Amino acid sequence: MASKFFLLALMAMSASRALASDPGQLQDFCVADRTSQGMFFVNGFACKDPKTAVVEDFFFSGLHMAGNTSNKQGSAVTAVNVAHIAGLNTLGISLVRVDYAPNGQNPPHIHPRATEGLIHFQFNLGTNKAVAIAALSSKNPGVITVNNAVFGSKPSISDDILAKAFQVDKNIVDNIQAQF
Ligand code: MN
Repeated sequence: MASKFFLLALMAMSASRALASDPGQLQDFCVADRTSQGMFFVNGFACKDPKTAVVEDFFFSGLHMAGNTSNKQGSAVTAVNVAHIAGLNTLGISLVRVDYAPNGQNPPHIHPRATEGLIHFQFNLGTNKAVAIAALSSKNPGVITVNNAVFGSKPSISDDILAKAFQVDKNIVDNIQAQF
């Protein structure tokens, strides 16, 4: 009896993993009807009539193009989600291409509605540039960049609080906040 209870407890614990992703789909496809915005209030996009779906609803061109990395981070994100491919609606998947200049970075961030996995990474020895392709488990993963959220929030977080949290002088916090 005790061992059965232990087994049950073990199964319950192993089933409580947290995974962020879209809920299971109810149909083969549900091309996002962006023209219906404001008519229906659903979590995501309503489907357009499947009889009106066209090839273009499932197509995106441009992932082969390098993004412009001439910025402070030295990186460029090219997202391909339901905003770019209407047919991704409800399918629980999207892609992102990130280009890196030498010493570039994609700053620390989270995707509130998805988990992310690297599927391709390529480093060009000639140019010292790199490119990464990642898959995300949502049609619309969202992104929260940590430095923007902490130091660039509006209204701003008090420099007293940030100075104590990061254990630095207030001037340093003010200096970072001024960058946003
Ligand atoms: Mn990401």
